[in-house]
Amino acid sequence: MAPGVNRGPHFYKSNSKCKWVIFAALLFMSSADLYEVVVGLEVHAQLLTQTKLFCGDSISFGAEPNTHISPITLAHPGTLPKLNKKALEMAVKMGIACHCEIEKHNYFARKNYFYPDLPKGYQVSQHTTPICKSGYIKIKTTSGEKTIRLNRIHLEEDAGKSLHDADDLNTCIDYNRAGTPLIEIVTEPDLRSGEEAFAFLTQVRRLVRYLDICDGNMEEGSLRCDANISVRKKGEAQFGTKVEIKNLNSIRNVKRAIEAEAIRLMNILDQGGEIMQQTRGFDAVSGNTFTIREKEDADDYRYFPEPDLTPFNLQNEFVEKIGNTIPALPEERIKEYISAFSLSEYDAAVITDERDFADYFEEILQHTKNCKAAANWMMGPVKSWLNEKNCTIKQFPVAPKQLASVINMIDEGKLSFSVASTRLFEKLLQTPGKTPEDIAIAENLISVSDLSFIGPLIDKTLDKFASKVIEYKKGKKGLLSLFVGEVMKHSRGKADPETVNKMILEKINKQ
Ligand code: ADP
Ligand code: MG
Repeated sequence: MAPGVNRGPHFYKSNSKCKWVIFAALLFMSSADLYEVVVGLEVHAQLLTQTKLFCGDSISFGAEPNTHISPITLAHPGTLPKLNKKALEMAVKMGIACHCEIEKHNYFARKNYFYPDLPKGYQVSQHTTPICKSGYIKIKTTSGEKTIRLNRIHLEEDAGKSLHDADDLNTCIDYNRAGTPLIEIVTEPDLRSGEEAFAFLTQVRRLVRYLDICDGNMEEGSLRCDANISVRKKGEAQFGTKVEIKNLNSIRNVKRAIEAEAIRLMNILDQGGEIMQQTRGFDAVSGNTFTIREKEDADDYRYFPEPDLTPFNLQNEFVEKIGNTIPALPEERIKEYISAFSLSEYDAAVITDERDFADYFEEILQHTKNCKAAANWMMGPVKSWLNEKNCTIKQFPVAPKQLASVINMIDEGKLSFSVASTRLFEKLLQTPGKTPEDIAIAENLISVSDLSFIGPLIDKTLDKFASKVIEYKKGKKGLLSLFVGEVMKHSRGKADPETVNKMILEKINKQ
């Protein structure tokens, strides 16, 4: 038989198998593979000023309702607003940190709409001259770094709060929040999933905290997010009709809402339906979105320049001065920690996640050269203590200089790491006023490299593990740590590990 003649049926079989695979793949190919999700976010961040955007009323979370409401907040006739310079500075700070172009010629605009919690009947915002234009924020995704472009960042005042649950029959209104300064950060539609939106918001929160312009607490409402979502067939150039989901109150819920809404939109398209432009809400309990209102035409807010506030120009020096107050940001610090301190990318990312934590780490490095040990202390004993006590590094009682002394004592062989990280660390937390040296001496924790103390412990250990010593000599070198560990145990951690190591080797070699 000529070669290959008998391949007919076999070939036929594999071909049919191939068809089955394609059929099954099509069957299981979800809509998610056919469509692309497009997301743009509008993020409101409450600025950490003492007072409101246009008057001296305090902004304090959780105050008794309607206790911070001057006639200006309540929009009584004849009252005049006055711009809070601190809020302006914070908005510019965010803009510089996001690589935006800072608008020099500004004016405020009235955005007119009626709502019970809006005492003036309009919101003072910025319209054609947002204080910051374009710019970007970089995020980390599973497929690497991605740049999310910003459309603008503008300053505006918050509305009051309607309380629907405070009374059985009525909705109550608390005007304390009215006039609170906000920045609104608007992205271009560059995000492609709930996951990316999650990464973006995490980055925004980290940034506003680093800049000290917002506390970033989504649960308390100081950071709020509206998500705009559309879907389109992969490869299509036009965006689909968007749906806006309002008032998402946690980063996780932003991701959940986007994922749920994307599925809903894909199902509509799969069934040949048409997507309506809508404003929707998200029910965190059921995980579904629901209609709030249809949006047939663009809202008409009849914007016009706010006549009670004069237009204002920003000087270059003013912007430069604000730029100089921006601390080293996480990306910059991560790069430095990797290159100058030889930390892993993971360690660098964990340590720089919060500015105060990174500042503390850097302060340790003012007093010790052992960067790796400093990082290990921060990620190990320090972080565990903070987690256990539910505290921030600001509440950590031990000064960076003291921790540096502990690291130096270990490096000098005066302390073993195990004694330092348990017994000394514990004492240091209880009496942070004392120096680590004093505590170590008082508690008798100083490592002993005295041969008369260590020698007998080694002899005892080598006797106990006589058969293991023979194995060691035959090449099982890993057993050395067993011998060292045993001696350290008997010395209650006080023996200097380096001396123990050296002496064990000497003794074994002599045997
Ligand atoms: P609106 O005037 O309705 O507020 P904008 O054009 O100002 O709409 O955009 C608001 C937000 O919606 C921005 O974050 C933008 O990136 C996003 N966005 C715009 N078009 C789409 C779309 N087709 N799909 C998803 N997001 C979009
Ligand atoms: Mg909008």
